[in-house]
Amino acid sequence: MKRTPLRRKSTLSRGSGLKRSGPVRRSADTRRSRAVRAQETGEIYRAVRARAAGHCEFCTIDLGRRDRTPELDHFWGRVKVAQSAESTWMLCRACHHEKTENRPTRVDWIRRFHLHVLRHGYAAEAIEAYRKLQWAQSKSC
Ligand SMILES: [Zn+2]
Repeated sequence: MKRTPLRRKSTLSRGSGLKRSGPVRRSADTRRSRAVRAQETGEIYRAVRARAAGHCEFCTIDLGRRDRTPELDHFWGRVKVAQSAESTWMLCRACHHEKTENRPTRVDWIRRFHLHVLRHGYAAEAIEAYRKLQWAQSKSC
C-alpha cells in the first residue's frame, strides 16, 4: 500500500525526538521499497538533469547559477503514475511553483508537457498527455 507523505509520521513520533520506533515501526518490505524508490528517483533525477542540459525544460532559463536549483517535477504526481524520465521534467523553482499552482491554467501546463514529450519522442507519454489534455479541456469549457 502506498502512503502519502502526510501519513508517514504519527503524531507520537513528530517532534518527540523518538526515531521511528514503537507504534510507527514499519515492516522491512516498506523500508526496502522506500530505499528502492529513493534510488530510482536519484537515477531519474540524473537522467532528466542530463537531458535538460542545464536549463529549465519549460522556460529554458539557465539553471547553472547557484541560486537556481533544478527541481524534478513529476508531472502527474507520484502516487498514481509510476515515475520515469518520460513522466518528469526539470524545472526552475519559479516554473515548478507556477505548475504546482496550475497558473495560468492546468490545460496550459498539460499542453506544454504534451509538446515536451512529443519533442523527446516519448510516444506512450504523448498519447497519455493528449488524452488528459482532451479531458481537461472538456472540463474547462
Ligand atoms: Zn523555468
